[in-house]
Amino acid sequence: MSEIIDGNATAKSIHQELKDELSKLNFGRPPCVAFIRVGEDPASVSYVKKKGKVAAEIGIESRLHVLPETTEQNELDALIDKLNGDETVDAILVQAPLPKQLNERRTFNRVRADKDVDGFSNANLGLLCQEDPQAFVACTPAGIAELLKRSGVKTAGKKAVIIGRSLIVGKPMALLLSKKGSDATVTVCHSKSENLAEICSQADILIAAVGRPNTVSADMVKEGACVIDVGINRIPSSETKSGYRLVGDVDFKSVSPKCSKITPVPGGVGPMTVAMLMRNTLSAYKRHMAERKI
Ligand code: NDP
Repeated sequence: MSEIIDGNATAKSIHQELKDELSKLNFGRPPCVAFIRVGEDPASVSYVKKKGKVAAEIGIESRLHVLPETTEQNELDALIDKLNGDETVDAILVQAPLPKQLNERRTFNRVRADKDVDGFSNANLGLLCQEDPQAFVACTPAGIAELLKRSGVKTAGKKAVIIGRSLIVGKPMALLLSKKGSDATVTVCHSKSENLAEICSQADILIAAVGRPNTVSADMVKEGACVIDVGINRIPSSETKSGYRLVGDVDFKSVSPKCSKITPVPGGVGPMTVAMLMRNTLSAYKRHMAERKI
């Protein structure tokens, strides 16, 4: 039987570590993260609320800016520019997905690199490519790397297969696992990959970031592999008050008996994404304070 990697417990330990670190700093003001939410997408409302709650627990101030669904690009740009220039704001997060009239790449690149704690800008992705320690690494892949490390999963020399090549999960995950120090041999799969099951069945570490339930079944998993399920899919359910329940991309029931370790959904990667956002915010704050020599 596999070991369940507890993302909630690991994230809680990281929150405590950050809180302890922050309590030893004395820069005259707390760290501050600005959240921008455009519209009322229920998942975005709940994610931003959760991030604000965790920030408060750690001692990080958060300021929420809510713009209407009909916001135009120049209006969003203007708010980002204002926050970029605000010396009391260390970190900026624009909650995705954005309404259709807004361009996500343009928006992410508008955020000043030293405040881009989501790590989605060209500048931070470029720094990650160069293995520069100054890079803010996208929070989900950074959280997975931390989960692997803290769960004792060795990556050096191992075969890692990532299903998904998005800029926010798959691609930065591949860079993190293949960089010096992690030293995995990485294969990235996507919707055009042929023989997906065969490729996945060779993986020592299998990471699914697709957004489709049951993409990974037991026949695709090597005996003893470590399986990380990034997917968050809402499926209708008559058993919950909300009318839906969350499942990942992995068929947990059939896959878990076969692997050595596996993350659940919910309670696996999700909480680690929030923990890494907090870690990046604290790093941005320390950098800003050091520059101001306060
Ligand atoms: P995207 O839709 O941007 O990317 C999905 C990737 O999956 C694409 O590369 C796509 O291929 C690939 N794909 C789609 N169908 C298949 C298939 N049948 N076989 C193989 N590959 C396929 O999604 P994200 O990367 O943003 O997110 C992925 C999942 O992770 C979602 O469920 C999302 O909700 C979740 N997520 C969870 C987070 C967390 O904190 N736990 C954070 C971020 C995301 P192609 O490029 O060819 O289209």
